[in-house]
Amino acid sequence: MTTSEKRLGDLIDDYCPRCRLLLNHAVASMVGEDVVKVICQTCFTEHAYRHGEGGKKKVPPRSTLFDQVVASAPPAAVPDPPAAPPRKRTQTPARYISRHQGKPPRGKR
Ligand SMILES: [Zn+2]
Repeated sequence: MTTSEKRLGDLIDDYCPRCRLLLNHAVASMVGEDVVKVICQTCFTEHAYRHGEGGKKKVPPRSTLFDQVVASAPPAAVPDPPAAPPRKRTQTPARYISRHQGKPPRGKR
């Protein structure tokens, strides 16, 4: 008997599709010496043995369809945006408003 031989009820690591993590799983069913189904020991979901793989995010291809369209399109003459009117510089200094106003004058009613 080898040490790598798995038996029913053994705890093995596998990817749980529900927890979306690599977690402890108990071997639930086997065909021959291959583990077929496992039970997540965290959420107790039974699922097919994934050999610890799964949940890998799909890497989108570098060149998207948009990039292909942009690359194939002829360079279009982009009209310049209308020039904004020059801003007038005000000579008055900025006024700062304070939350804490001075005390109102007393006795002036
Ligand atoms: Zn789980």
